[in-house]
Formats: sequence, structure tokens, C-alpha cells
Amino acid sequence: MAAGAAALVFLAWRVWFDDGDSVPTVRHKSGPQVTYVCPRRHSYKLPLRVEPPSCPTCGQLAFPRAEYRCEMHGTFEVAVRHAAGAGGKIKASELRLPGKDWVSIEEPLKCPRCKRELIRRHRDPLETRRGRDPRRGG
Ligand SMILES: [Zn+2]
Ligand SMILES: [Zn+2]
Repeated sequence: MAAGAAALVFLAWRVWFDDGDSVPTVRHKSGPQVTYVCPRRHSYKLPLRVEPPSCPTCGQLAFPRAEYRCEMHGTFEVAVRHAAGAGGKIKASELRLPGKDWVSIEEPLKCPRCKRELIRRHRDPLETRRGRDPRRGG
């Protein structure tokens, strides 16, 4: 069982790094739209950017959100901060659990209650349930 869970964690992180981010890559000029959420739960869509925008309703900084899951303690909503990478490409750089400090995306994100490594949840529940077939053609 432990080996299976470890494999799942590994797979989740591989998927994370393969995709770069959950933000869909759209080739339009406007860039990918993401949902920004402020600390008071106002949400709105904006093109992805490095500087976090101020919420038009309450003026607090808003960040895109991602979901991370602990097998014991359920799902945590994590704020994502972006930075400009090589070639000016915007990529996720830091994560913040509710009420915690920002941590580098290269660090494993730990459950605040049991310190286990959290597993990133994907937006599409069907995709997650069906799993990915790693076989290659040929
Ligand atoms: Zn707000
Ligand atoms: Zn936990």
C-alpha cells in the first residue's frame, strides 16, 4: 500500500512538472485566463500575470488557487504565486497554505496537521479517476 501511494505522489509531481502549471496553454494574444481568488473569497478571471492583482471589491491581493490533498485530512486550497521564468514565460514559483508562509514550489508541500506530503489534485475529476496510461505507442 505504501509503495502504491508513493508511486501516486511521484506521478502527481511528474504531471505537475510536465505541465508546468494547471493553466491551460492557449495561443491567443491575451494569454491564458485564470481564476484569481482574494482572501475574502471574491473571484474573477484575468489573464495570467506575475504581479498579483488587487481585488476590485475589497482591494486585497488575489492569487490563483490550486487544490492539494492529504489522505488523512482532505483537501487544502493553496494560493499560487507566479514568476517570470526563462524567456519571459510565466510559471508557478511559490505556494501558500491558508494561514501559512509562502514556500518554493520546489519544496514538497506538507500537510499542516500531519506533515505528510500533499498531493496535487487535478481539476478534471474524470481524468483523475480514470488515471493515465503510461504506455507509449509502438
Ligand atoms: Zn476581495
Ligand atoms: Zn494530513
